[in-house]
Amino acid sequence: MTPLDGLAWANRFASLGPDFFTELPAQGLPDPHWVARSPACAEMLGWPAEWPQWPTALDVFAGNAAWPGMRPLAGVYSGHQFGVWAGQLGDGRALWLGEVDSPAGPQELQIKGGGLTPYSRRGDGRAVLRSSIREFLCSEAMAALGVPTTRALCITGSRLPVIRESVETAAIVTRVAPSFVRFGHFEHFAHHQQLDALRRLTDWFIAHHAPECADAPEPAVALLRKVALQTADLIAHWQAVGFCHGVMNTDNMSMLGLTLDYGPFGFMDGFDPGHVCNHSDDRGRYAYARQPAVAFWNLHALAQALLPLLPIDSEKDTEASTERLLEAVEAYRERFAGQMLGRMRAKLGLDGEQQGDQALADDFLKLMAASRADFTLSFRRLSRALSTPEPLRDLFIDREALDAWLARWRARTAPDAEARMLAVNPAVVLRNHLAEGAIRAARDGDFTEIERLLKVLGRPFDEPALPGDAALPPDWAQALEVSCSS
Ligand code: AMP
Ligand code: MG
Ligand code: MG
Repeated sequence: MTPLDGLAWANRFASLGPDFFTELPAQGLPDPHWVARSPACAEMLGWPAEWPQWPTALDVFAGNAAWPGMRPLAGVYSGHQFGVWAGQLGDGRALWLGEVDSPAGPQELQIKGGGLTPYSRRGDGRAVLRSSIREFLCSEAMAALGVPTTRALCITGSRLPVIRESVETAAIVTRVAPSFVRFGHFEHFAHHQQLDALRRLTDWFIAHHAPECADAPEPAVALLRKVALQTADLIAHWQAVGFCHGVMNTDNMSMLGLTLDYGPFGFMDGFDPGHVCNHSDDRGRYAYARQPAVAFWNLHALAQALLPLLPIDSEKDTEASTERLLEAVEAYRERFAGQMLGRMRAKLGLDGEQQGDQALADDFLKLMAASRADFTLSFRRLSRALSTPEPLRDLFIDREALDAWLARWRARTAPDAEARMLAVNPAVVLRNHLAEGAIRAARDGDFTEIERLLKVLGRPFDEPALPGDAALPPDWAQALEVSCSS
């Protein structure tokens, strides 16, 4: 009996059948080594701390072996990139390993960077160490912040060269989620008029991930509404922590409302509503302040994909079906506004609900924007401003305006707000320069900074032992650029 005998692999996604994927083994990393592992993710899976010593663990997560019961496969999906239909996109480098039972329910495991698949297009099926570290750290950081996200179990690395703007090395990040199904999966089958497959996917998704929708008069409409609400919650949470995803294409939108596909993401330093974190996003389509509207647009793309599942035999039917889908998407607006205001109230330490709360929050954000005040530090220092306003004032140029706002805020805030605010306004987020420090060390073969950061990011509401982790970014961070290259 080995520890592996205790792992029950279910592979429910594989039950969808061959329209949805191609089964194939990974092309693993030659002579692999561990780069990082997340104890918190292993714990979520219910795995013991010694799981990396399980037989062939390193080879499994480097794509060189499979445990009994795993069924490696690449799924196919399409999507809209930057608002334009892009056809079949993926998955060119992620492989489902299988689905395992856990105390948190069934969890799918995927490796990203396991070589070519039939869906790789012009890509090489690989992922570089740099982007794997960013995905790994941010997945776990978001989970610790309480933001819905796919998780990351580990990174394996190798000396295999991978060509991007320069020559880098290959790595594989293993990620974990109850489902990796995206809006783009539905768009794929709708676009290719594979209506049987579209119906099967919808029924399957509802049965396994949205069972409460099954008894609705129109399950597809109920599903869309559910996704709209979950997406609203997700985006409100992003906005509240100053997170920019960077590539909110429809293929990067999770059907479970999880943060998915960490690429050129960024946590804002100085607050700028127009902040664009993705250097490849010339037009700023995915700017911070546009994320809520983009998610709404993406939900319309999903609605379009679900339309063929409703009556569309006549023009009148089609119109009525469209109407019902649009109504489901519409639920996003109110939910987002409510969630956003609720999060801002918590960030400002406001008890209950009062008329002027929205304006109070908006005015603080305006002052922050006018001073390009650091997003994370502004709220963190505001949390202590009832007793110690000076550190907050240091972040602002127009101190008179800030003082006037603080007077309004004090009149509205409970005297014991500080502890509650410190529990929702993080001290530490994964700023680009922190990730960059870990990446540079890892390229030199030193993985201790990844491990250290992982620990710090795992307790984002605690003051870190090293003040630098919670400080303004250093000057050299200005020059950092992140793009879609990964
Ligand atoms: P992204 O913009 O990172 O979400 O990528 C869009 C699609 O391109 C995804 O479905 C990926 O599977 C695919 N892709 C990205 N990079 C590669 C690569 N190096 N090799 C093959 N496919 C890739
Ligand atoms: Mg993607
Ligand atoms: Mg990507």
